[in-house]
Amino acid sequence: MHTVWVWGDQLNRDLAHLRGTDPASTRVLLVVSTAKLAERRWHVQKAHLLVSAMRHFAAELEAAGYDVDLRRAESMRDGYEAHVAEFAPEHVRSMEPASLPGTRLLADLDVEVVDNDHFLCHWRDFDAWADGRKQLKMEDFYRLRRQQTGYLMEGEEPAGGRWNHDHANREPPTAELAVLAPDPVSSTLDEIDRDTLEHWLPDGLYGAPPDGTWATTRRKALARLRRFVEQALPAFGDHQDAMVAGAWSLNHALLSHALNLGLLHPREVCDAVEEAYLAGDVPINAAEGFIRQIIGWREYIWGVYRRWMPDYADANVLGADLDVPPAFTGEAATEMRCVEDTVTSIHDHAYAHHIQRLMVLANLATSAGIDPKAFTGWMHASFIDAYEWVMVPNVVGMGTFADGGRMSTKPYISGGAYIDKMSDGYCKPCRFDPKKRVGDDACPFTTLYWDVLDRNRATLGGNHRLNRPYATLDRLKDLEELRERAVEVRHRLATGEL
Ligand SMILES: Cc1cc2nc3c(=O)[nH]c(=O)nc-3n(C[C@H](O)[C@H](O)[C@H](O)COP(=O)(O)OP(=O)(O)OC[C@H]3O[C@@H](n4cnc5c(N)ncnc54)[C@H](O)[C@@H]3O)c2cc1C
Ligand code: SF4
Repeated sequence: MHTVWVWGDQLNRDLAHLRGTDPASTRVLLVVSTAKLAERRWHVQKAHLLVSAMRHFAAELEAAGYDVDLRRAESMRDGYEAHVAEFAPEHVRSMEPASLPGTRLLADLDVEVVDNDHFLCHWRDFDAWADGRKQLKMEDFYRLRRQQTGYLMEGEEPAGGRWNHDHANREPPTAELAVLAPDPVSSTLDEIDRDTLEHWLPDGLYGAPPDGTWATTRRKALARLRRFVEQALPAFGDHQDAMVAGAWSLNHALLSHALNLGLLHPREVCDAVEEAYLAGDVPINAAEGFIRQIIGWREYIWGVYRRWMPDYADANVLGADLDVPPAFTGEAATEMRCVEDTVTSIHDHAYAHHIQRLMVLANLATSAGIDPKAFTGWMHASFIDAYEWVMVPNVVGMGTFADGGRMSTKPYISGGAYIDKMSDGYCKPCRFDPKKRVGDDACPFTTLYWDVLDRNRATLGGNHRLNRPYATLDRLKDLEELRERAVEVRHRLATGEL
């Protein structure tokens, strides 16, 4: 018998590790590492999804005639070694893991490793594109990938006459968006789900227990893909940058968890979206906006991760050193409405949508000077779709500018007024005033926006994209007062009083 070792984020029979294998001569190894489950304070929905989806996949393979060794072991290496000792397989094969710790482990073992085909662009092809470029602009990569994949192309030209339709994706946020947004699909927890919750998870997890929002099987993932394309996609573009208090999902896809587990392949997701566009069911700004997220952003993130790691995870050019604040972890209540709404969504669903991750969490982390590594670790444990390969570049590059501009040309920071513009129901009832930078009711985002520029003049002052904010900063009459307020805000954030 041969063994195919399937990692927990490769749960698909149509990937390179299992495609074409004969169940009669193939045994499948899946290892649930107890050390990994104990290594962080995971959100219970995240840990549950991973283990339950692995167990469901094991059951699916058994039903298809495979012999499956689903093994609980201290570490992945222990699981592999115990499997080899028990079954003495003729040959073990695995698919290259998306994140580096797994890749390194395989390099140390007697395992044949096949290329990961869970992405449309392998990292070596990304490298070939990146070699010799000064700046790796996502938009350049994306346009090339549109041409190479043919998605939304009319001959040599982009469908709709332009590559990027973001100009049409700027609908102002209103409470109505929440009413118009379709409900997420929810499934009843089955026997495996319930048993996983009771018997497979360690103590010390946090967050609301699983409620059937996240797909633990491919069948459930396909149902969520259908719901997205039919109900949420038509207005995806219009609403993707909006934040509305109490509306956690809006028109977002809620598919990243299934994509990152392997339950869905990016190709089938893009195919479904393109088909809906060609059938006239969704406008070009929605289809293009979404396909850009998948063949552009998602694959770009994997490419830069593979290219820039391992040093990339340690980058911290702004010398940020605060710990993750209790307001984020839920260990203290917060009066910042935008943070409270985002943290509630994380507690309830192990999820916050992209703009909340970027404009609320990462913005405050950058402005307040939260250590990017600690911030990455907390997000990794808290988000349903987080894995090292995707979390590190999103936090270090896109979110916090810890990489000094290798990914983005300027930090993604803003004061409260911009959050107010992009949201509904946040700033009006908040005890802080988004327009104020000093005083007891000054918005912490607004104070810290100016303060982070002031504190990091040596690193950021030469960035020509920040010329205007620095010119304004130089004209502020209340800079001393602002500095004092910023010290107080950062202190209160760190101690859980904000
Ligand atoms: C600080 C920060 C941390 C993030 N951490 C993660 C993470 O751990 N895992 C993760 O999958 N995404 C991460 N993202 C990217 C993005 O926020 C999520 O992919 C998205 O919110 C997932 O929800 P959705 O499926 O409803 O997304 P939608 O916005 O409705 O759909 C877009 C789809 O495109 C893909 N996508 C879009 N942007 C990215 C991106 N930057 N990186 C990877 N995939 C992308 C996702 O698969 C997503 O399902 C992070 C973004 C930021 C700013
Ligand atoms: S005023 Fe500031 S803290 Fe309050 S919700 Fe608006 S941006 Fe957030």
